[in-house]
Amino acid sequence: MIDLNTLTILNARKSLDAKEYSAVDLAQAYLDEIAKKNTELNVYLEVYDDVLTQAAAADARIAQGESCPLLGIPLAIKDNILIQGKKVSAASKILENYVASYDATVITKLKAQGAVFLGRVNMDEFAMGGSTENSAYGVTKNPHDTGRVAGGSSGGSAVAVAANMALGALGSDTGGSVRQPAAFCGVVGCKPTYGAVSRSGLMAMGSSLDIIGPIGKTVEDTEIIFDAIRGQDVLDGTTISQSSSFKTQSSSFKIGVPWDVVNQEGVDGAIKENFTQAIKKLEASGCEIVDVSLPNIGLSLAVYYILMPAEVSSNLARFDGVKYGLHVDGKDLLEDYLLTRGTGFGPEVRRRILLGTYVLSSGYYDAYYGKAQVARNVLQREFADAFRTVDIIVTPTAPMPAWKIGEKGDPLSAYLADIFTVTANIVGIPALSVPSGFVDVDGKKLPLGIQFMAPHGGESVLFDIGKKFFGE
Ligand code: GLN
Repeated sequence: MIDLNTLTILNARKSLDAKEYSAVDLAQAYLDEIAKKNTELNVYLEVYDDVLTQAAAADARIAQGESCPLLGIPLAIKDNILIQGKKVSAASKILENYVASYDATVITKLKAQGAVFLGRVNMDEFAMGGSTENSAYGVTKNPHDTGRVAGGSSGGSAVAVAANMALGALGSDTGGSVRQPAAFCGVVGCKPTYGAVSRSGLMAMGSSLDIIGPIGKTVEDTEIIFDAIRGQDVLDGTTISQSSSFKTQSSSFKIGVPWDVVNQEGVDGAIKENFTQAIKKLEASGCEIVDVSLPNIGLSLAVYYILMPAEVSSNLARFDGVKYGLHVDGKDLLEDYLLTRGTGFGPEVRRRILLGTYVLSSGYYDAYYGKAQVARNVLQREFADAFRTVDIIVTPTAPMPAWKIGEKGDPLSAYLADIFTVTANIVGIPALSVPSGFVDVDGKKLPLGIQFMAPHGGESVLFDIGKKFFGE
């Protein structure tokens, strides 16, 4: 019997290499767990039919004496990352039966390592949302309280790891979609530096903000997946080389806390309390804690909700009923477009396309999009300045724990939940969410997360502080 509760990628690797069990045994253990839980939690939109074949191929490589970190390791993949020959829908009706014609670069890299793909997991439609409630295929439930959301948009990826339905997962993060569900589900999630991981084969949401990121049970597991997928790629001209990353020499970090951001209105009391405890823990472990001022960080949410929809409106123009997926016939080409997009896209996606088209329209472009770009530059400079005095900036990951399914019917209240996460995407820096304890709500223990941010290329600093904080 493999104990999935205590299993990590690191110890599974040792057991697989020592032939304590096979990759087929391991994959079967996860398939059994998925069969038990998926109806209730709604994590997998599809479990692949070739999982055991993939695992058998990994076993053959292990039998030859090969060993690499993810050989035979079962992973869940967000439904917006392409695997050749497999369906990929971005949890949208418009791509319901769409089959990917090529592998995303991250998939090519994981295949080279011999990772096993269990299936594609649920998300907010086209990654727009923070609760997985915007999926066209139903909400994913939080395993800590099934009346609550898992977070999002990578809710399926986070629950897969938290509920032992995968040993690790890939999500995508445009404004917090890896970190926030990781925090809501009590697992670790990393948003890498912009360009550290190729976006080739990731369905675009906001191209200047998007990045694929790993989710794991531990910081170490998350790092292992990041190391496997990172790197420069000819198929994505924005990727950066691995050599642009850096490590700190010391292990006693100087950590900046933007207290006015943490203490702002709308941040739950339980979050502030948990965060204060986390800061004390960091201080006790030898970190130097200082105040850091980021005067314009209050603009982040507004900047994000202008730039992101602008990019969304342009990126999603390709779904026109001709090139991909759904086609609804109208009386002429214009009506084809209108009917296809009106039928295929859900309400949140349509809202963002409208918003984005508006902020880019002549007459409003300078007032909204142009100004948001200016503010983006200001924020980038502000963070660069702050990182001249501190190694890491820390905030809570989200301003509240997982909310009740259906509670945030008003889109604006859902957008406000992104206050701590969007800035890293705007600035392009890496950020890591690590579990920071639990809060009791209605007799259930809900996980919370703390977010560490580092300068561009500083993932290894984040993994170091994350391990220190998490006790690895
Ligand atoms: N919750 C944010 C949004 O709704 C972030 C989404 C994401 O990172 N993909 O846009």
